[in-house]
Amino acid sequence: MAKILCVLYPDPVTGYPPKYARKSIPEIQVYPNGQTTPTPVGEFGFTPGELLGCVSGGLGLRTYLEANGHELIVTSDKEGADSVFDRHLPDADVVISQPFWPAYLTAERIAKAEKLKLALTAGIGSDHVDLKAAAERGITVAEVTFSNSISVSEHVVLTALALVRNFAPSHTIATLGGWNIADCVSRSYDIEGMEFGTLGAGRIGVAVLKRMKPFDVKLHYYDPHRLSGDVEKELNVKYHSSPESLVNVCDVVNVQTPLYPSTQGFINEEFLSKFKRGAYLINTARGALCDRDAIARALESGQLAGYGGDVWFPQPAPVDHPWRTMPNNAMVPHISGTSLSGQARYAAGTLEILQCFFEGKSIRKEYLIVDGGNLAGTGASSYKLD
Ligand code: NAD
Repeated sequence: MAKILCVLYPDPVTGYPPKYARKSIPEIQVYPNGQTTPTPVGEFGFTPGELLGCVSGGLGLRTYLEANGHELIVTSDKEGADSVFDRHLPDADVVISQPFWPAYLTAERIAKAEKLKLALTAGIGSDHVDLKAAAERGITVAEVTFSNSISVSEHVVLTALALVRNFAPSHTIATLGGWNIADCVSRSYDIEGMEFGTLGAGRIGVAVLKRMKPFDVKLHYYDPHRLSGDVEKELNVKYHSSPESLVNVCDVVNVQTPLYPSTQGFINEEFLSKFKRGAYLINTARGALCDRDAIARALESGQLAGYGGDVWFPQPAPVDHPWRTMPNNAMVPHISGTSLSGQARYAAGTLEILQCFFEGKSIRKEYLIVDGGNLAGTGASSYKLD
Protein backbone atom coordinates (compact mmCIF):
# COMPACT_ATOMS: atom_id res chain seq x y z
CA MET A 1 0.00 0.00 0.00
CA ALA A 2 1.36 3.39 -0.96
CA LYS A 3 0.64 6.85 0.38
CA ILE A 4 -0.21 9.45 -2.24
CA LEU A 5 -0.07 13.08 -1.15
CA CYS A 6 -1.94 15.34 -3.52
CA VAL A 7 -1.91 19.15 -3.29
CA LEU A 8 -4.69 20.92 -5.18
CA TYR A 9 -6.21 24.39 -5.18
CA PRO A 10 -9.10 25.13 -2.78
CA ASP A 11 -12.75 24.50 -3.73
CA PRO A 12 -14.90 27.32 -5.17
CA VAL A 13 -15.96 29.77 -2.44
CA THR A 14 -19.55 29.02 -3.46
CA GLY A 15 -19.10 25.31 -2.73
CA TYR A 16 -18.52 22.08 -4.65
CA PRO A 17 -19.65 21.03 -7.19
CA PRO A 18 -20.18 24.30 -9.06
CA LYS A 19 -23.08 24.82 -11.46
CA TYR A 20 -21.64 23.93 -14.86
CA ALA A 21 -22.22 26.20 -17.87
CA ARG A 22 -22.14 23.31 -20.37
CA LYS A 23 -23.15 19.66 -20.30
CA SER A 24 -20.07 18.21 -21.97
CA ILE A 25 -16.72 18.96 -23.55
CA PRO A 26 -15.43 17.89 -26.96
CA GLU A 27 -13.49 14.63 -26.92
CA ILE A 28 -9.92 15.07 -28.20
CA GLN A 29 -8.04 11.85 -29.01
CA VAL A 30 -4.84 13.06 -30.66
CA TYR A 31 -2.70 16.16 -30.16
CA PRO A 32 -1.43 18.15 -33.18
CA ASN A 33 1.96 16.32 -33.20
CA GLY A 34 0.27 12.89 -33.37
CA GLN A 35 0.72 12.05 -29.66
CA THR A 36 -2.39 10.39 -28.26
CA THR A 37 -4.25 11.94 -25.35
CA PRO A 38 -3.97 9.98 -22.05
CA THR A 39 -4.95 6.33 -22.15
CA PRO A 40 -5.54 5.07 -18.60
CA VAL A 41 -6.86 1.52 -18.30
CA GLY A 42 -10.51 1.11 -17.23
CA GLU A 43 -12.99 3.74 -16.16
CA PHE A 44 -11.90 7.30 -15.33
CA GLY A 45 -13.06 8.10 -11.80
CA PHE A 46 -14.74 11.25 -13.16
CA THR A 47 -16.86 12.68 -15.94
CA PRO A 48 -14.86 14.87 -18.37
CA GLY A 49 -15.95 18.49 -17.94
CA GLU A 50 -16.17 18.29 -14.12
CA LEU A 51 -14.08 20.52 -11.86
CA LEU A 52 -11.25 18.12 -10.93
CA GLY A 53 -8.31 20.38 -10.04
CA CYS A 54 -9.64 21.49 -6.64
CA VAL A 55 -9.56 19.54 -3.37
CA SER A 56 -13.08 18.05 -3.66
CA GLY A 57 -12.45 17.18 -7.33
CA GLY A 58 -9.35 15.24 -6.21
CA LEU A 59 -8.36 14.74 -9.87
CA GLY A 60 -10.95 11.95 -9.86
CA LEU A 61 -8.28 9.60 -8.45
CA ARG A 62 -9.95 8.32 -5.28
CA THR A 63 -11.86 5.41 -6.86
CA TYR A 64 -8.79 3.88 -8.53
CA LEU A 65 -6.40 4.46 -5.62
CA GLU A 66 -8.69 3.23 -2.84
CA ALA A 67 -9.84 0.19 -4.87
CA ASN A 68 -6.16 -0.76 -5.04
CA GLY A 69 -5.60 -0.31 -1.30
CA HIS A 70 -3.64 2.94 -1.45
CA GLU A 71 -4.02 5.90 0.89
CA LEU A 72 -4.89 9.24 -0.74
CA ILE A 73 -4.45 12.53 1.12
CA VAL A 74 -5.74 15.61 -0.71
CA THR A 75 -5.06 19.06 0.69
CA SER A 76 -4.54 22.67 -0.31
CA ASP A 77 -2.59 23.40 2.89
CA LYS A 78 0.96 23.56 1.56
CA GLU A 79 2.92 26.34 3.29
CA GLY A 80 4.96 26.15 6.47
CA ALA A 81 6.36 23.34 8.59
CA ASP A 82 2.98 22.66 10.22
CA SER A 83 1.05 22.45 6.93
CA VAL A 84 -0.82 19.24 6.07
CA PHE A 85 1.63 18.85 3.16
CA ASP A 86 4.72 19.03 5.37
CA ARG A 87 3.21 16.73 8.00
CA HIS A 88 2.46 13.96 5.49
CA LEU A 89 5.57 14.40 3.32
CA PRO A 90 7.94 12.11 5.31
CA ASP A 91 5.70 9.03 4.65
CA ALA A 92 4.58 9.87 1.12
CA ASP A 93 5.54 7.52 -1.73
CA VAL A 94 4.06 9.82 -4.38
CA VAL A 95 3.49 13.58 -4.36
CA ILE A 96 1.06 15.05 -6.89
CA SER A 97 1.03 18.80 -7.34
CA GLN A 98 -0.12 21.34 -9.89
CA PRO A 99 1.61 24.46 -11.19
CA PHE A 100 -1.55 26.50 -10.41
CA TRP A 101 -1.17 25.87 -6.65
CA PRO A 102 2.33 24.49 -6.46
CA ALA A 103 3.61 22.47 -3.54
CA TYR A 104 7.21 23.65 -3.80
CA LEU A 105 9.36 20.51 -3.47
CA THR A 106 12.58 22.24 -2.45
CA ALA A 107 15.84 20.40 -1.73
CA GLU A 108 15.05 20.72 2.02
CA ARG A 109 11.62 19.15 1.58
CA ILE A 110 13.04 16.40 -0.65
CA ALA A 111 15.56 15.59 2.09
CA LYS A 112 12.65 15.10 4.51
CA ALA A 113 10.62 13.02 2.03
CA GLU A 114 12.56 9.83 2.67
CA LYS A 115 10.09 7.47 0.97
CA LEU A 116 9.33 9.65 -2.05
CA LYS A 117 9.73 7.86 -5.39
CA LEU A 118 7.51 9.84 -7.78
CA ALA A 119 6.79 13.58 -8.02
CA LEU A 120 3.94 13.91 -10.47
CA THR A 121 2.81 17.20 -11.97
CA ALA A 122 -0.88 17.19 -12.87
CA GLY A 123 -0.29 19.60 -15.75
CA ILE A 124 2.87 20.88 -17.43
CA GLY A 125 5.93 22.55 -15.91
CA SER A 126 7.79 20.82 -13.06
CA ASP A 127 9.92 23.76 -11.95
CA HIS A 128 8.22 23.70 -8.53
CA VAL A 129 10.34 20.58 -7.95
CA ASP A 130 14.08 21.03 -7.33
CA LEU A 131 14.98 18.81 -10.29
CA LYS A 132 18.63 18.50 -9.33
CA ALA A 133 17.78 17.32 -5.82
CA ALA A 134 15.17 14.92 -7.23
CA ALA A 135 17.73 13.50 -9.71
CA GLU A 136 20.32 13.05 -6.97
CA ARG A 137 17.79 11.14 -4.85
CA GLY A 138 16.66 8.95 -7.77
CA ILE A 139 13.10 10.35 -7.63
CA THR A 140 11.17 10.18 -10.92
CA VAL A 141 9.56 13.49 -11.95
CA ALA A 142 6.78 13.19 -14.53
CA GLU A 143 4.14 15.50 -15.98
CA VAL A 144 1.24 15.23 -18.42
CA THR A 145 2.97 16.63 -21.49
CA PHE A 146 0.62 18.33 -24.01
CA SER A 147 -2.42 17.99 -21.71
CA ASN A 148 -3.06 21.74 -21.50
CA SER A 149 -0.74 23.18 -24.17
CA ILE A 150 -3.62 24.16 -26.45
CA SER A 151 -5.53 25.61 -23.48
CA VAL A 152 -2.57 27.90 -22.77
CA SER A 153 -2.06 28.85 -26.42
CA GLU A 154 -5.68 30.02 -26.59
CA HIS A 155 -5.06 32.19 -23.52
CA VAL A 156 -1.98 33.75 -25.13
CA VAL A 157 -4.04 34.79 -28.19
CA LEU A 158 -6.74 36.15 -25.88
CA THR A 159 -4.16 38.17 -23.91
CA ALA A 160 -2.45 39.54 -27.03
CA LEU A 161 -5.76 40.83 -28.35
CA ALA A 162 -6.92 42.07 -24.94
CA LEU A 163 -3.75 44.15 -24.52
CA VAL A 164 -3.44 45.52 -28.05
CA ARG A 165 -7.16 46.42 -28.28
CA ASN A 166 -7.33 47.75 -24.68
CA PHE A 167 -10.16 45.35 -23.82
CA ALA A 168 -10.10 45.24 -20.00
CA PRO A 169 -10.26 49.02 -19.34
CA SER A 170 -13.05 49.37 -21.95
CA HIS A 171 -14.99 46.53 -20.30
CA THR A 172 -14.61 48.22 -16.93
CA ILE A 173 -15.98 51.48 -18.36
CA ALA A 174 -19.02 49.60 -19.70
CA THR A 175 -19.69 47.81 -16.40
CA LEU A 176 -19.46 51.11 -14.54
CA GLY A 177 -22.19 52.64 -16.72
CA GLY A 178 -19.84 54.79 -18.82
CA TRP A 179 -19.67 55.54 -22.56
CA ASN A 180 -16.26 57.20 -22.67
CA ILE A 181 -15.26 56.05 -26.15
CA ALA A 182 -12.24 58.34 -26.44
CA ASP A 183 -10.87 56.95 -23.16
CA CYS A 184 -11.41 53.38 -24.39
CA VAL A 185 -9.74 53.84 -27.76
CA SER A 186 -6.83 56.12 -26.96
CA ARG A 187 -4.72 52.99 -26.31
CA SER A 188 -6.47 50.66 -28.79
CA TYR A 189 -4.82 49.33 -31.98
CA ASP A 190 -5.27 46.56 -34.55
CA ILE A 191 -2.85 43.66 -34.24
CA GLU A 192 -2.91 43.18 -38.04
CA GLY A 193 0.49 43.90 -39.54
CA MET A 194 2.33 43.83 -36.20
CA GLU A 195 5.51 41.78 -35.61
CA PHE A 196 4.67 38.92 -33.22
CA GLY A 197 7.38 36.74 -31.69
CA THR A 198 7.68 33.86 -29.28
CA LEU A 199 10.66 33.05 -27.06
CA GLY A 200 10.35 29.28 -26.82
CA ALA A 201 8.66 27.38 -29.65
CA GLY A 202 7.81 24.03 -28.12
CA ARG A 203 4.31 22.58 -27.93
CA ILE A 204 2.69 25.81 -26.72
CA GLY A 205 4.90 28.23 -28.65
CA VAL A 206 4.15 26.53 -31.98
CA ALA A 207 0.41 26.36 -31.17
CA VAL A 208 0.51 30.12 -30.48
CA LEU A 209 2.26 30.82 -33.81
CA LYS A 210 -0.35 28.70 -35.65
CA ARG A 211 -3.20 30.57 -34.00
CA MET A 212 -1.70 34.00 -34.61
CA LYS A 213 -0.99 33.39 -38.33
CA PRO A 214 -4.58 34.11 -39.50
CA PHE A 215 -4.38 37.57 -37.90
CA ASP A 216 -1.94 38.57 -40.68
CA VAL A 217 0.87 39.40 -38.29
CA LYS A 218 4.55 38.80 -39.15
CA LEU A 219 5.79 35.86 -37.10
CA HIS A 220 9.16 35.38 -35.33
CA TYR A 221 10.62 32.82 -32.90
CA TYR A 222 13.71 32.01 -30.88
CA ASP A 223 14.36 28.56 -29.43
CA PRO A 224 17.63 26.70 -28.81
CA HIS A 225 16.10 23.91 -30.96
CA ARG A 226 15.31 25.20 -34.45
CA LEU A 227 12.02 24.04 -36.00
CA SER A 228 12.15 22.03 -39.22
CA GLY A 229 12.32 23.92 -42.51
CA ASP A 230 8.86 22.58 -43.39
CA VAL A 231 7.28 23.97 -40.21
CA GLU A 232 9.06 27.31 -40.65
CA LYS A 233 7.74 27.48 -44.22
CA GLU A 234 4.20 26.45 -43.29
CA LEU A 235 4.05 29.11 -40.57
CA ASN A 236 6.06 31.65 -42.58
CA VAL A 237 7.98 32.34 -39.35
CA LYS A 238 11.40 33.98 -39.07
CA TYR A 239 14.01 32.28 -36.86
CA HIS A 240 16.20 34.41 -34.58
CA SER A 241 19.46 33.05 -33.23
CA SER A 242 19.15 35.06 -29.99
CA PRO A 243 16.31 36.38 -27.80
CA GLU A 244 17.75 39.92 -28.15
CA SER A 245 17.46 39.83 -31.93
CA LEU A 246 13.76 38.87 -31.62
CA VAL A 247 12.73 41.46 -29.02
CA ASN A 248 14.52 44.13 -31.00
CA VAL A 249 11.96 43.89 -33.84
CA CYS A 250 8.75 42.58 -32.24
CA ASP A 251 5.68 44.59 -31.23
CA VAL A 252 4.23 41.65 -29.25
CA VAL A 253 6.51 39.19 -27.45
CA ASN A 254 5.27 35.91 -26.00
CA VAL A 255 7.41 34.04 -23.46
CA GLN A 256 7.03 30.27 -23.44
CA THR A 257 10.40 29.26 -22.02
CA PRO A 258 10.55 26.66 -19.24
CA LEU A 259 11.87 27.87 -15.87
CA TYR A 260 15.20 26.40 -14.74
CA PRO A 261 18.15 27.97 -12.89
CA SER A 262 19.69 29.74 -15.93
CA THR A 263 16.37 31.15 -17.24
CA GLN A 264 15.30 32.48 -13.82
CA GLY A 265 14.96 36.28 -13.97
CA PHE A 266 16.31 36.57 -17.54
CA ILE A 267 13.63 39.17 -18.35
CA ASN A 268 15.31 41.94 -16.37
CA GLU A 269 15.84 45.68 -16.77
CA GLU A 270 18.71 45.23 -19.22
CA PHE A 271 16.81 42.76 -21.42
CA LEU A 272 13.67 44.93 -21.37
CA SER A 273 15.75 47.90 -22.58
CA LYS A 274 16.34 45.94 -25.83
CA PHE A 275 12.58 45.73 -26.57
CA LYS A 276 10.96 48.15 -29.03
CA ARG A 277 9.49 50.98 -26.97
CA GLY A 278 5.77 50.33 -26.49
CA ALA A 279 5.98 46.55 -26.97
CA TYR A 280 3.49 44.18 -25.33
CA LEU A 281 4.83 41.24 -23.29
CA ILE A 282 2.83 38.08 -22.58
CA ASN A 283 3.98 35.47 -20.09
CA THR A 284 2.05 32.27 -19.45
CA ALA A 285 5.31 30.33 -18.86
CA ARG A 286 6.45 31.17 -15.32
CA GLY A 287 6.45 34.36 -13.24
CA ALA A 288 10.02 33.85 -11.99
CA LEU A 289 11.36 34.16 -15.55
CA CYS A 290 10.85 37.90 -15.00
CA ASP A 291 12.33 40.41 -12.59
CA ARG A 292 9.05 41.39 -10.91
CA ASP A 293 9.87 45.05 -10.25
CA ALA A 294 11.58 45.61 -13.62
CA ILE A 295 8.27 44.66 -15.31
CA ALA A 296 6.30 47.13 -13.20
CA ARG A 297 8.85 49.89 -13.92
CA ALA A 298 8.79 49.19 -17.68
CA LEU A 299 5.00 49.64 -17.67
CA GLU A 300 5.23 52.85 -15.66
CA SER A 301 7.88 54.32 -17.99
CA GLY A 302 6.07 53.23 -21.17
CA GLN A 303 8.93 50.97 -22.29
CA LEU A 304 6.22 48.26 -22.26
CA ALA A 305 2.72 49.26 -23.43
CA GLY A 306 1.21 46.23 -21.70
CA TYR A 307 1.99 43.03 -19.81
CA GLY A 308 -0.35 40.09 -19.45
CA GLY A 309 -0.50 36.47 -18.49
CA ASP A 310 -1.34 34.20 -15.61
CA VAL A 311 1.90 33.16 -13.93
CA TRP A 312 3.33 34.74 -10.80
CA PHE A 313 5.95 34.03 -8.14
CA PRO A 314 5.19 32.87 -5.55
CA GLN A 315 1.78 31.28 -6.04
CA PRO A 316 -0.66 32.19 -4.71
CA ALA A 317 0.61 35.74 -5.21
CA PRO A 318 0.53 37.96 -2.11
CA VAL A 319 -2.26 40.54 -2.01
CA ASP A 320 0.27 43.37 -2.42
CA HIS A 321 2.05 41.82 -5.44
CA PRO A 322 2.74 44.79 -7.79
CA TRP A 323 1.52 42.88 -10.85
CA ARG A 324 -2.02 43.05 -9.49
CA THR A 325 -2.11 46.84 -9.80
CA MET A 326 0.62 47.93 -12.24
CA PRO A 327 -0.64 49.99 -15.20
CA ASN A 328 -1.85 48.35 -18.42
CA ASN A 329 -1.71 44.80 -17.12
CA ALA A 330 -3.92 41.93 -18.25
CA MET A 331 -3.10 39.60 -15.38
CA VAL A 332 -5.32 36.79 -14.09
CA PRO A 333 -4.60 34.15 -11.45
CA HIS A 334 -2.89 31.03 -12.85
CA ILE A 335 -5.82 29.70 -14.90
CA SER A 336 -4.82 29.28 -18.53
CA GLY A 337 -3.88 25.61 -18.24
CA THR A 338 -6.69 24.58 -15.94
CA SER A 339 -9.80 25.06 -18.05
CA LEU A 340 -12.31 22.25 -17.47
CA SER A 341 -11.21 20.90 -20.87
CA GLY A 342 -7.54 20.83 -19.84
CA GLN A 343 -8.39 19.31 -16.45
CA ALA A 344 -10.04 16.26 -18.05
CA ARG A 345 -6.81 15.52 -19.93
CA TYR A 346 -4.37 16.12 -17.11
CA ALA A 347 -6.50 14.13 -14.65
CA ALA A 348 -6.61 11.20 -17.11
CA GLY A 349 -2.85 11.54 -17.67
CA THR A 350 -2.20 11.54 -13.91
CA LEU A 351 -4.20 8.31 -13.65
CA GLU A 352 -2.27 6.80 -16.56
CA ILE A 353 1.08 7.64 -14.94
CA LEU A 354 -0.02 6.24 -11.55
CA GLN A 355 -1.24 3.02 -13.17
CA CYS A 356 2.15 2.61 -14.91
CA PHE A 357 3.99 3.36 -11.68
CA PHE A 358 2.01 0.90 -9.55
CA GLU A 359 1.87 -1.82 -12.19
CA GLY A 360 5.58 -1.66 -13.01
CA LYS A 361 5.03 -0.48 -16.61
CA SER A 362 7.14 2.21 -18.30
CA ILE A 363 5.80 5.74 -18.09
CA ARG A 364 5.54 7.27 -21.58
CA LYS A 365 8.87 8.89 -22.46
CA GLU A 366 7.23 12.22 -23.31
CA TYR A 367 5.85 12.41 -19.73
CA LEU A 368 9.30 12.05 -18.11
CA ILE A 369 11.20 15.07 -16.79
CA VAL A 370 13.68 13.34 -14.45
CA ASP A 371 14.30 9.60 -14.34
CA GLY A 372 17.20 7.33 -13.45
CA GLY A 373 19.13 10.16 -11.79
CA ASN A 374 19.06 12.60 -14.71
CA LEU A 375 16.85 14.65 -17.01
CA ALA A 376 14.87 12.31 -19.26
CA GLY A 377 12.21 12.44 -21.99
CA THR A 378 10.74 15.94 -22.37
CA GLY A 379 12.92 17.03 -19.44
CA ALA A 380 16.07 16.27 -21.44
CA SER A 381 14.96 18.41 -24.39
CA SER A 382 13.34 21.30 -22.51
CA TYR A 383 15.16 21.72 -19.14
CA LYS A 384 18.69 22.13 -17.80
CA LEU A 385 19.70 21.24 -14.26
CA ASP A 386 21.65 24.52 -13.91
P1 NAD B 1 7.75 22.19 -24.36
O1 NAD B 1 8.66 21.32 -23.56
O2 NAD B 1 6.97 21.58 -25.46
O3 NAD B 1 8.58 23.41 -25.01
C1 NAD B 1 9.53 24.15 -24.34
C2 NAD B 1 10.42 24.79 -25.40
O4 NAD B 1 11.26 25.74 -24.75
C3 NAD B 1 11.33 23.78 -26.10
O5 NAD B 1 11.19 23.92 -27.49
C4 NAD B 1 12.71 24.19 -25.64
O6 NAD B 1 13.71 23.97 -26.63
C5 NAD B 1 12.51 25.67 -25.36
N1 NAD B 1 13.53 26.27 -24.50
C6 NAD B 1 14.27 25.71 -23.53
N2 NAD B 1 15.12 26.63 -23.01
C7 NAD B 1 14.88 27.79 -23.67
C8 NAD B 1 15.43 29.10 -23.59
N3 NAD B 1 16.41 29.39 -22.72
N4 NAD B 1 14.94 30.06 -24.42
C9 NAD B 1 13.95 29.78 -25.31
N5 NAD B 1 13.41 28.56 -25.43
C10 NAD B 1 13.86 27.57 -24.62
O7 NAD B 1 6.80 22.89 -23.30
P2 NAD B 1 5.41 23.61 -23.54
O8 NAD B 1 4.31 22.63 -23.39
O9 NAD B 1 5.49 24.44 -24.77
O10 NAD B 1 5.38 24.53 -22.24
C11 NAD B 1 6.34 25.58 -22.06
C12 NAD B 1 6.23 26.13 -20.66
O11 NAD B 1 4.96 26.75 -20.49
C13 NAD B 1 6.30 25.07 -19.55
O12 NAD B 1 7.63 24.77 -19.20
C14 NAD B 1 5.56 25.74 -18.42
O13 NAD B 1 6.46 26.48 -17.62
C15 NAD B 1 4.59 26.68 -19.11
N6 NAD B 1 3.19 26.22 -18.99
C16 NAD B 1 2.30 27.06 -18.38
C17 NAD B 1 0.98 26.68 -18.24
C18 NAD B 1 -0.04 27.60 -17.63
O14 NAD B 1 -1.08 27.13 -17.18
N7 NAD B 1 0.20 28.89 -17.61
C19 NAD B 1 0.57 25.41 -18.70
C20 NAD B 1 1.49 24.61 -19.36
C21 NAD B 1 2.81 25.01 -19.47
